[in-house]
Amino acid sequence: MTIKGVLFDFDGTLTHPGALDFPAIKLELGCPVDQPILEYLDTQPSGRRANLMKILEKNEDIAAQASQPNKGAEKCLIDLKNRGFALGILTRNSLRSINKALRKFNGVTTEDFSAIITRDVSQPKPHPDGVLQAARRMGLTSSELLVVGDFRFDVMAGKAAGAWTALLTDGGRSVMAPGDPEPDFTISHLRTIFDILEQDN
Ligand SMILES: [Mg+2]
Repeated sequence: MTIKGVLFDFDGTLTHPGALDFPAIKLELGCPVDQPILEYLDTQPSGRRANLMKILEKNEDIAAQASQPNKGAEKCLIDLKNRGFALGILTRNSLRSINKALRKFNGVTTEDFSAIITRDVSQPKPHPDGVLQAARRMGLTSSELLVVGDFRFDVMAGKAAGAWTALLTDGGRSVMAPGDPEPDFTISHLRTIFDILEQDN
């Protein structure tokens, strides 16, 4: 493997987990607990869908305001950049939320990322479209990318695009489901990315 870029999920990966309270948001939207929010919204008539999207955006705004960088996230990003790796973000969230939350990061700005792919411009994960778009913008092939995320959709999207995948866990219950692709790596701290990259030489 030759990894030249790292594509991060945002919420719960670069930010501290829990800012977005998905069960509470789903309750407010009337979204079944076992259904992902964006896919649920797609099944709704357009008028209701627009109203629900506003509720989702309001919740995302509040969460972005409350969010904090994850443990070691700023140092990880700065060190990767200094070592010449291209950086990207791939999220099911909106660009507006990402911009707001990134302002909390010390020493890191949107300029440090070669690609920030949000639901505004791509088909949401687990679809591989966002990974492929990010690779293009980063000037890499997807097989030169390490996709890092804390949810099964991150692994699924990365695998479907032919990228390397690392699942970030907090040591709790597995987020993967039966039949899901196995992540190439499972890590419990962002700094472990450097162990993966060192193996790669
Ligand atoms: Mg996440």
